[in-house]
Amino acid sequence: MNSVNRRSFIQALAAVGSASILTVPTARASATSKARVVVVGGGFGGAAAAKYIKLMDNAIDVTLVEPNATYTACPLSNEVISGHRTLESLQTRYGGLTARGINIVQRWVTAVDPVKKVVTLTGGATLSYDALVMAPGIDFTWGSVEGYTLAASEQMPHAYKAGPQTLLLQKQVMAMKDGEVCIIAPPPKPFRCPPGPYERAAQIAHYLQHHGKGKSKILILDPNDSFSKKGLFEQAWKTLYPGMIEWIPGKDDGKVVRVNPATHTCYTTFGEHKGSVINIIPAHTAGKIARDAGLANAQGWCEVQPMTMESTMHKDIYPVGDACIAGELPVYDMPKSAHMAVTQAKVAAGAIVAKINGLPNPEPYYVNTCYSLAAPDYGFSVVHVYKVEANKFIYVKDAGGISPIKTPPITRRLEAEYANGWFNNIMADAFV
Ligand SMILES: Cc1cc2nc3c(=O)[nH]c(=O)nc-3n(C[C@H](O)[C@H](O)[C@H](O)COP(=O)(O)OP(=O)(O)OC[C@H]3O[C@@H](n4cnc5c(N)ncnc54)[C@H](O)[C@@H]3O)c2cc1C
Repeated sequence: MNSVNRRSFIQALAAVGSASILTVPTARASATSKARVVVVGGGFGGAAAAKYIKLMDNAIDVTLVEPNATYTACPLSNEVISGHRTLESLQTRYGGLTARGINIVQRWVTAVDPVKKVVTLTGGATLSYDALVMAPGIDFTWGSVEGYTLAASEQMPHAYKAGPQTLLLQKQVMAMKDGEVCIIAPPPKPFRCPPGPYERAAQIAHYLQHHGKGKSKILILDPNDSFSKKGLFEQAWKTLYPGMIEWIPGKDDGKVVRVNPATHTCYTTFGEHKGSVINIIPAHTAGKIARDAGLANAQGWCEVQPMTMESTMHKDIYPVGDACIAGELPVYDMPKSAHMAVTQAKVAAGAIVAKINGLPNPEPYYVNTCYSLAAPDYGFSVVHVYKVEANKFIYVKDAGGISPIKTPPITRRLEAEYANGWFNNIMADAFV
């Protein structure tokens, strides 16, 4: 096969949404020069990168390092809080990747030496790499709201990493009495799943309304002045849960600056609010290992090269998923979503396989699709598309879109079904 054909194979595979399974013939001289790729983190970004590298070139030795045997996905975890889903329905293990020949190492990566190209694992073992995919997701900035510590999150759950925190918030919401207040405090931008806190408000309202607690209120105290799919959320809140959800933006003193878990109080600059349930979502940064590896900028995010997803700080390291910051900042930055993480992983996979095989870099496209469920039968969505021009991310305004405000109820019902289908597909795309 000539190099042009090999190139088009890689382009086809790296194209977002491609489900084809192709193997790129290796340009390496012998099996003894087997290239090694290490992937840090087995979330959407890391799992998809490992899978697609192996799909594109089965000869590459791919090792995914992840401390947990089970991954719990965040998408649709707001439905766990409202009792419409179980946490188990969001979980997967790594058997699908093992079956593809990917080595799974159940450890933390504790250090990265980008010069020697070696990572260290808990216990001290090391792995060397030719290319490293860095996909550790986000860390919370404890103290970004004064008084909000790891210990405080046991009383005021963030529920923004799916798992025990999700169940804790569910338990607290279900214990609310009619007329009580639940406060949601979103983080400042950028944060993972930009519509997440507002979808959560709707899901909590749905639970309360359907369990004889319709006089309860959800108060969103927001440091931001706008939010993703605002018009659609406000329409859904008004239609489905009239009078139950109030949003206070940052410009109207919505920003929570301090909490007192003992008295269930949130303080803004000029006011204070009490709630029987308080959901504080602290500010985010890239996961610690990415920052420790020297990949992050002053704001704590990993910048990347648009054509390849390679770090702007260190060669042969590819940050993907929530840990990276990409796109046309500050308005058209790429959302931190599972869909985006998988798209970025495919671009990184294509770039890594091309480089290892001495092939031209595939032309990348980036796509995000994000569904929100305001009720089990009421969904809407937004799609973002990005291309690369002159080595810059360009948001392609006319290629994406958002659900219409004026539409018959059947559209919302169908979009709720599509949301569930999307979830099944993205889980399969990354983990199976
Ligand atoms: C409530 C909520 C709802 C959401 N809904 C949607 C949605 O509808 N659609 C959507 O597209 N996205 C949604 N998201 C966002 C989505 O979950 C994230 O964008 C996605 O998980 C990012 O994937 P990732 O691989 O970058 O990070 P993660 O999924 O967080 O995975 C990171 C992995 O890295 C591992 N790790 C961390 N540090 C190390 C280390 N040192 N060594 C080894 N492993 C490490 C972690 O254990 C973890 O498994 C939602 C998020 C939330 C919180």
